[in-house]
Amino acid sequence: MDLYEHQARDLFAEYGISVPRAEVTDSAKQAREIARRLGGPAVVKAQVKTGGRGKAGGVKLAADPVAAENAARQILGMDIKGHTVGTVMLAQPVDIESEFYVSYVLDRAAGTFLAIASSEGGMEIEEVAATRPAAVARIPVDPAVGVTSAKAAQIVRAGGLPAQTADVLVRLWDVLIREDALLVEVNPLVRTAKGQILALDGKVTLDDNARFRHARWGVQDAAPDDPLEAQAAAKGLNYVKLDGEVGIIGNGAGLVMSTLDVVAGCGARPANFLDIGGGASARIMADGLDVILADLAVRSVFVNVFGGITACDAVADGIVQALERVELTKPLVVRLDGNNAARGRAVLDERAHPLVEQATTMDGAARRAAELALAGHNS
Ligand code: ADP
Ligand code: MG
Repeated sequence: MDLYEHQARDLFAEYGISVPRAEVTDSAKQAREIARRLGGPAVVKAQVKTGGRGKAGGVKLAADPVAAENAARQILGMDIKGHTVGTVMLAQPVDIESEFYVSYVLDRAAGTFLAIASSEGGMEIEEVAATRPAAVARIPVDPAVGVTSAKAAQIVRAGGLPAQTADVLVRLWDVLIREDALLVEVNPLVRTAKGQILALDGKVTLDDNARFRHARWGVQDAAPDDPLEAQAAAKGLNYVKLDGEVGIIGNGAGLVMSTLDVVAGCGARPANFLDIGGGASARIMADGLDVILADLAVRSVFVNVFGGITACDAVADGIVQALERVELTKPLVVRLDGNNAARGRAVLDERAHPLVEQATTMDGAARRAAELALAGHNS
């Protein structure tokens, strides 16, 4: 579960990391009151569980309480990468001298934690990481030892941070460990004109598997981090959003995972993981297609079903039902095998939708879905 920025801010404050004064509201009128309490000027910030709010117009500096009310009115209801803004945080503006980036993240591939640090923090950090990777230091952290002051000094040196930030690095590690987080990120961590070190933005991802150890997070807003994940969860579907362009629907986690691999092997990237489960009905198939087609990043869809308990003709019926409900705008490659496969294929042949193709093998279907996705990409 990701925390909202204001929750991360409160958590940092609890662990002794300096943060600007701030308050949260869902009303533009109250925003004016809050700005007044903060001393007049305020930074008005959209509270959504996604980054890049500044670039999307979701972070505005207001010179006085009236401007804060106007900014809040603009930001509330705004759509940022599919997230609707329901609340804003008003923070005291800080006189920034320089912006840094620091985070701790679980590196599953290396089987350890990584500290990531850069003296070029702020809204361009992705750009910096992509074009000048040397400007972003990555230092492994042994979880059995943690971030001692010696380790913090090493991170500070590697990242080119001011020596004063070492204290924040030690405290931030404490947040990660004691809260069972998979990621803690401060971007920007700033030095003010007066030489104070402050965390101006925070992202914290908690480990859901450790939730039972943290009663207080149980009562927090547990909205899924992605709007389509929320829609899928409401329909009882097992859906995970990924970064690519091929939508994937399969039955059973094992088959879906190998489908991801085969699609990746064909040079395309999976857009998601959607498991309709064993014993999937026509309705579940139709719901699954609804979710995948709503994802704008999807350029082709690969339906890979091996019928066991699930009968392939039920899956084919689901596809046909979905075609009645939503207008298919992307090509669909279907591979049906196993229980009632012949009957399922016949159902789709009879429907003869121009954007639906069938393939007999998993490899062939993956190749075709990848080809269609990449062709869509270039047009
Ligand atoms: P995001 O990372 O989602 O774009 P941030 O909270 O990092 O949002 O805000 C974007 C930028 O706005 C920061 O890099 C910083 O320059 C500026 N900013 C954020 N909060 C404050 C603040 N309290 N005072 C002054 N500037 C701020
Ligand atoms: Mg930020």
